[in-house]
Amino acid sequence: MELIRIPSLVDNYIWLLIYQGNCIIVDPGTAKPVQQFLQQNAIHPVAILLTHHHHDHVDGVKELTRYYPELVVYGPMETSSKGTTCVIKGGEQLNFAGFSWQIFAVPGHTLGHVAYYQKPYLFCGDTLFSGGCGRIFEGTAEQMYQSIETLKALPDETLVCCAHEYTAANMAFASYLLPHDKAIKAYTLAVNQKRAQKQPTLPSSLKIEKEINIFLRSDDPYLQKVLGFSPATASNCDVFAKIRKLKDRF
Ligand SMILES: [Zn+2]
Repeated sequence: MELIRIPSLVDNYIWLLIYQGNCIIVDPGTAKPVQQFLQQNAIHPVAILLTHHHHDHVDGVKELTRYYPELVVYGPMETSSKGTTCVIKGGEQLNFAGFSWQIFAVPGHTLGHVAYYQKPYLFCGDTLFSGGCGRIFEGTAEQMYQSIETLKALPDETLVCCAHEYTAANMAFASYLLPHDKAIKAYTLAVNQKRAQKQPTLPSSLKIEKEINIFLRSDDPYLQKVLGFSPATASNCDVFAKIRKLKDRF
């Protein structure tokens, strides 16, 4: 199996998982770069996975399905008008394309947002980013916190294939909150070097994210103190909500 990342729009990535000349496409916000790649490499797409309804994740679906009418499009109900042919809601185990996929409901960024997991690949859309998490547009902080905790429970070697190249901005915020954190310092430096050379920072791994992503560290007593909480009484969800609020204004 081979994981491919196709840049799309301003800072999106469309992920392709390729196996035996076939492939699965995740969140095609545009069709053209995907079509070009498939034609140049003689690859046959079998399915599209949609994580949520935002245009930069779904706008390429209709053109792709016109060109490849046999494509099966999986997505939550909120994507049903965007070309989805098989509605899922999270909690299912789906068998398609010869593989078994675990689907998680991860509301928060949008209410119907789902994530797709097939060891070691996690396609989490705009829920978990490297060094950050998605903005809470439709759900509550409590929902987003639970969604992030669901993803955090996956194995360390999980590859975080998120939909945006936001890592540098996320690490600037993490460095502002925790300027003396060694792991955050080292990762920020590495990320900035990669971006200076126009290299991608993704996929990341959950092992790395547990160290450098402050949204996965709401149980960290040091971070809690920095944010003005007393570690003896702090609720991790409240800590998470405060980090999210501060990031929104950063
Ligand atoms: Zn989104």
